[in-house]
Amino acid sequence: MKVLKFGGTSVGSPERMKNVAQIICDKNRKIVVLSAVSGTTNKLVEISNLAEKKQKEEAIKEIENLEKRYTIFLDELYKTEQYKKDANYILINIFETLKSLVDSPFTVRTEKRILAQGEIISTNLFHLHLVENKVNAVLVSALNFMRIGKDDEPDYFYIKENLKREIKAFPDAEIIVTQGFITKNVYGEIDNLQRGGSDYSASLIGAAIKAEEIQIWTDIDGFHNNDPRYVKNTRAIRELSFDEAAELAYFGAKILHPASVLPAKLQNIPVLLKNTLQPDALGTLITRDETGDGIKAVAAKDGITAIKINSARMLLAHGFLRKVFETFEKYETSIDMITTSEISVSVTIDNIKNLQNIEYELEKYSNITVEHDQTIICVVGNFIAEKTGVALQVFEALGNIPLRMISYGGSKHNISLLINTKDKQAALELLSKHLFS
Ligand code: ASP
Repeated sequence: MKVLKFGGTSVGSPERMKNVAQIICDKNRKIVVLSAVSGTTNKLVEISNLAEKKQKEEAIKEIENLEKRYTIFLDELYKTEQYKKDANYILINIFETLKSLVDSPFTVRTEKRILAQGEIISTNLFHLHLVENKVNAVLVSALNFMRIGKDDEPDYFYIKENLKREIKAFPDAEIIVTQGFITKNVYGEIDNLQRGGSDYSASLIGAAIKAEEIQIWTDIDGFHNNDPRYVKNTRAIRELSFDEAAELAYFGAKILHPASVLPAKLQNIPVLLKNTLQPDALGTLITRDETGDGIKAVAAKDGITAIKINSARMLLAHGFLRKVFETFEKYETSIDMITTSEISVSVTIDNIKNLQNIEYELEKYSNITVEHDQTIICVVGNFIAEKTGVALQVFEALGNIPLRMISYGGSKHNISLLINTKDKQAALELLSKHLFS
């Protein structure tokens, strides 16, 4: 059985939803995972923020605006009055839930429950559309099988056992529709897998049922060899290994949630990235096979802060790096890149929430320099060690762009370079010109 996930823009209008129905209906049993209709989760975040600030009237006004948008949506999605009425009834209930959440005292749980409604709406509407078109479809709530533990990590065993039970109850269903993103937590409360987490849901579901394939459908035909938002004439990469895809997803290529590679990799399930707007385009196939050699793609991640930790005490001393890492661990801040010299170490982070505390601790034994507005350029491929010249190709391409940090050799799939964000556009263009044209 395959698992197919459709993102927010793929279900972003009644037309698009109908298109998805056509893509999936081929008489093969499958699980279809949906995101919220595009723009909905952002709107729900706004509503939740207003509720938190006790601006209830504004929050209710936003809920009503959203409700109006969906009323128009319904009108175009269904053919018959009966289905329009049924869908409207579902919507009224969901929007009543939203209003009552905004009306109750605000807690962390309120936010999670508000955000969950986006996927609940999209899956209900889509399921009803399938039923109206005589497709043998069922809606299974992700809240019945998806669970994260105390550490916010997925509870693989729970998910597997409960999902199996849920789908076994519908042996004849052709399409099993469920929500991405939403989950229960260890306390049985509604929670989520973080923004963009529907890909992760699809991968967890695919791994739980040992799916034949996981397909992620978006509005672009797979991973491109450079960022199409910044560089012209990029092209889709036909094949990537799990490790290459993980690097690209983590370092900026927005098409796939980085966490979603691991569950598929662990169960060795191919992941196919497809384009809803061009269903016949081949897309990118991610498997464990390491195909081709040399540079395949470039991605960029902004919002990076570099911290240089300089200490004479590091000279010939052991345990210095442990001390540094412990500080970052204490403040739950993960490090992306690291380079060292004999008396200093530079690291990058993308989460500066606890930066002040980190600086305070590090300054007890070193001099600190902090630089914001940095970008990591990540060059990905299959760099077989004997194949020399890959680094040279990259450095030659970048010409006079100042490089703040270089990380090479951590894996054979990646060279990471830290540059100032103001040089990003030029860097991406130069890399495209010299590596891919
Ligand atoms: N709807 C959620 C978001 O916008 C999850 C997702 O689309 O993957 O972040």
